[in-house]
Amino acid sequence: MELPRVAVVTGANRGLGRATAMALARRGFCVVLTYRGDRLEAEGVVRSIRELGGEAFPIRLDVADTASIDRFADELLAEVGRRWSAGGIDVLVNNAGIGLFAGLHEATVEQFDALFATNVRGPFFLTRALARRMGDGGRVVNISTSLTRHVSAGTSLYAASKSALETLTRSLAVELGPSGIRVNCIAPGPTATDFNGGAMRDDANLRETLAGATALGRVGEPEEIADAVAALASGDLRWVTAERIEVSGGSLL
Ligand code: NAD
Repeated sequence: MELPRVAVVTGANRGLGRATAMALARRGFCVVLTYRGDRLEAEGVVRSIRELGGEAFPIRLDVADTASIDRFADELLAEVGRRWSAGGIDVLVNNAGIGLFAGLHEATVEQFDALFATNVRGPFFLTRALARRMGDGGRVVNISTSLTRHVSAGTSLYAASKSALETLTRSLAVELGPSGIRVNCIAPGPTATDFNGGAMRDDANLRETLAGATALGRVGEPEEIADAVAALASGDLRWVTAERIEVSGGSLL
């Protein structure tokens, strides 16, 4: 009997995480969705996946709460074993993240620490906890940003946190390569979600400016990022590791 393929997507209650969970479910993965606060939203995503004929369940995780990560991993593994008879996981998508758009003179120490705890420390310790439960062929996909390639005022700390995630991606690809685990990142351009107060979805002026600076002439949609994540999780890209793939419609070339 072939065991189900299991994917874990952090922050999957909305936005890119939700779209990624759906894209993986459409490709036959059983999906574990993590959410931090909004269980009802996460349950809504589970319902949508079941309507597609897929399988999923939600589990709470605050990725910035490092002390909880090993316990979370134990709970997760017990549940995928119970529900799907799976002995481990195949794919981890480190999607959960926060933005900070504040200049040198505005950012606070608390904001700095929260940003790095969520965008860097969380993915590092979660990858460590779950890589132990991945077999040969496992994959980790980290969600970075196009802002690591081009700079603008007020994005320094957010971009620095994602640059750190990109560096982790390459180093962990080397460390996990001997176990057959691939580690890559997707760097989305501006995408219409709740991110940054929903600005890329709701602020018509900002959308127009961003569209004008993009080769394909518009802001991205969550499904367009999700399909790229799913491609990295698929066997078609099995010889790709340690890469940063930008999915931005050609933003700020
Ligand atoms: P979003 O704000 O809609 O979603 C972020 C998700 O992360 C939410 O589910 C939120 O609950 C979760 N999250 C935040 N802090 C968390 C924590 N401590 N523990 C657990 N979950 C937490 O935004 P989005 O656009 O869907 O963002 C997803 C990822 O994509 C983020 O890493 C973001 O940096 C990145 N990104 C977004 C864009 C964009 O334009 N939308 C562009 C580049 C990169």
